[in-house]
Amino acid sequence: MTIPTYKMYIDGKWVSSESGETYTRVNPANYNEVLGKFQQGNEKDVDKAIDAAEEAFEKWREIPPPKRGEILLKAAQLLRQNKEELARIMTREMGKVLMEARGDVQEAIDVCELMAGEGRRLFGRTTTSELRDKFAMTVRLPLGVVACITPWNFPVAIPAWKIAAALICGNTVVFKPSSDTPICAIKFVEILEKAGVPKGVVNLVTGPGGTVGTHLVKSKKVRAVSFTGHRDTGAQILKDAGVGKKIGLEMGSKNPIIIMDDADLKLALDGVIWGAFGTSGQRCTAASRIIVHKKVKQKFERMLIEKTKRLRIGNGLDPKTDVGPLVNKAAQDKVIGYIEIGKNEGAMLCCGGKVPKLNGWFVEPTIFTNTSSDMRIFQDEIFGPVTALTEARNLDDAIDLANAVEYGLSSSIYTKDINNAFHAIKHLEYGITYVNAPTIGAEVHLPFGGAKASGSGWKEVGWTGTEFFSEEKTVFIDHSGKLQRAQIDIG
Ligand code: NDP
Repeated sequence: MTIPTYKMYIDGKWVSSESGETYTRVNPANYNEVLGKFQQGNEKDVDKAIDAAEEAFEKWREIPPPKRGEILLKAAQLLRQNKEELARIMTREMGKVLMEARGDVQEAIDVCELMAGEGRRLFGRTTTSELRDKFAMTVRLPLGVVACITPWNFPVAIPAWKIAAALICGNTVVFKPSSDTPICAIKFVEILEKAGVPKGVVNLVTGPGGTVGTHLVKSKKVRAVSFTGHRDTGAQILKDAGVGKKIGLEMGSKNPIIIMDDADLKLALDGVIWGAFGTSGQRCTAASRIIVHKKVKQKFERMLIEKTKRLRIGNGLDPKTDVGPLVNKAAQDKVIGYIEIGKNEGAMLCCGGKVPKLNGWFVEPTIFTNTSSDMRIFQDEIFGPVTALTEARNLDDAIDLANAVEYGLSSSIYTKDINNAFHAIKHLEYGITYVNAPTIGAEVHLPFGGAKASGSGWKEVGWTGTEFFSEEKTVFIDHSGKLQRAQIDIG
């Protein structure tokens, strides 16, 4: 079988890399299946993409935002028409089960529609002035060329979050997707091209993060970097970016579900299974810690082990599969490494922990119990189908345990007591808290982002999604006809 060769998209053309070098990628559920050859971009390719974006900016910023919104609406329509094909590509490329891959594409549709509507909002404010005959307001202006650097675990949704928000604000984009999911990135850009995004407005450069990503981040022509990925990569980007550009970081987490003694345990069980093992635990919002009230811990643990053992592992294209593979061999090695660490630290492995004999990078859904806050499996983001149970004495103890990590993206509490719920909402140091639902399940019309080491403070999507990608300029218009001095000419 011939292996297809994919190109990059620069200045409205599908092109090969400057070096002519390519790399290959295989199906994580069947590593004998080679998916394609992809362009190994380098610094020269990045410079071309930045120059194209810079040139396109002056025209693109002049297009009225509602007109830019029409292009995004068209993109949403094309995504809807191609949803099934895109979802199947995604499952083959990064492994998540087909139902979840459809959800990923749906999220991209939702966000394109949401941001199309933002074209008729992009609100500034008008307010009063302390001086007579003086008008005060803010207006939202685009930034210029922005870099969107994305991970593989939501390979259509996350690029759409960033690119749709950047475009509606009038920016032009250089998009650097994960090297693990170039096909999803290429298909998404093809859709933007078909929807009518003019040449140079979105450019796609594939290739390694260490060269393509670093060069993009360091460029003085890039006015903002929107990154989603690992905490360590985010820290490196902060160092490399220097001053003079906005940096938005969405990073990892170690998300807790608290289960109180009054919780509906069956509901909590469904939530934990979905939160911990959905996308094989490879979500930034995955429920990797389960903090259970001591009165129900033993009972819940038994229920969880019993249900986890029934989960079916396999290729995500098979409708019977519950848990797909990990994205690549390095991810599988990392997860297996953490399972060994957990055992050596004295946590009790009570389910899973092995690699099934399949031609893919699978790991069994795994549960540790009797974990404590000093253990690495309690503290570190494992990013695989591994979750850890810890016992709590009461609600305050559970919240202290939940907060005892450096991360702060998503959290959850199962309780029937409204006071417990509001106490948790107030004290959990997380960007997101769910009540009686697991840690995963964000909707695009609400702000998304993490506290502490999970984020840099900017929220993506929702009504805040355009804040990062625009400059809120303050404007004063003095029509008094004389010099008026703020703070001095008062009264
Ligand atoms: P990585 O940080 O490894 O990679 C993310 C992106 O950054 C990729 O495109 C990568 O390119 C690129 N990159 C790598 N090194 C550099 C660099 N030095 N400079 C610039 N760019 C670079 O993350 P993963 O792709 O492995 O994604 C998993 C991580 O993402 C997890 O920690 C997860 O929690 C987090 N995540 C966070 C979310 C959130 O919203 N908070 C949502 C989803 C995931 P390349 O692939 O070529 O290495």
